[in-house]
Parts: sequence; C-alpha cells; structure tokens
Amino acid sequence: MDSCIFCKIAAKQDPAEILMESDSVVVFKDIYPSAPVHYLVVSKKHIPSIKEVSHEDEALIGHLIHTAKDSAEKLGLSGYKLVFNVGKEGGQIVDHIHLHILGGWAKNKPGSINV
Ligand code: 5GP
Ligand code: ZN
Repeated sequence: MDSCIFCKIAAKQDPAEILMESDSVVVFKDIYPSAPVHYLVVSKKHIPSIKEVSHEDEALIGHLIHTAKDSAEKLGLSGYKLVFNVGKEGGQIVDHIHLHILGGWAKNKPGSINV
C-alpha cells in the first residue's frame, strides 16, 4: 500500500532501526518509545488490523508472535509485554498490523500497558 508508513519501512523505502527480519515480517525500533525498550513486529503483508485477519493469515500471526519471542531474547529481555492495539478505540494509530514488544523496566516494576 503506497501511502502506508509500515509498508514503506518493510520495503526499505523509509528508514527504521531494524532488529531482525524474515520473509514475512520485520522488527524495528519504535520511533516514540512508550517503554525503555520498545520494538514493533510488522508483517510485510498489508493487513489493516487484527479485525481484518483471515484464516489464511493464521500462520503469519503465529510467526509474528514467534518473532516477537526471538526478538525479546535478542534484546536480552527476561520479561516483557506483547500488545496488539486494535482499532481507534483500542489505541491503534497506524492502520497496518503490528505487535508491540515492551520491556526494559526495573525488576518488579512492570510498566503501563497504554501504548
Ligand atoms: P499503534 O498506536 O498504532 O498501535 O502504534 C503505532 C506505533 O508506531 C507507535 O508506538 C508509534 O510511535 C510508532 N510509529 C509511528 N510512525 C513510526 C515511524 O515512522 N517509524 C517508527 N519506527 N515507528 C513509528
Ligand atoms: Zn501497510
């Protein structure tokens, strides 16, 4: 999708601090972090949100979560939050499916889930 910022980042047409990548997803640093460590796992396929996920996307969503796990390990996070914001009322601003990885808080002091 031409006007979508996450499609552009996934296609390397816009810059981002990329942590890891596979054939179907890319992981990059959030530009306005809501936690000491904040990354986004983004599918290369343009799906607006969880609401538009179809049965054929089930493997992709599983891969998104698995990649979040691998990314958290690479970042040295022993605990973290994974968040999908879904729709405007769910706090979603960018209409391209993404999974937030949030962590890096002091031990025993988990942060807010409002991202
Ligand atoms: P949402 O509220 O849609 O779930 O989260 C979108 C996230 O994308 C926000 O945390 C925001 O900081 C991040 N973001 C928006 N535009 C850009 C961008 O151009 N580059 C990067 N790296 N992150 C972005
Ligand atoms: Zn997109």
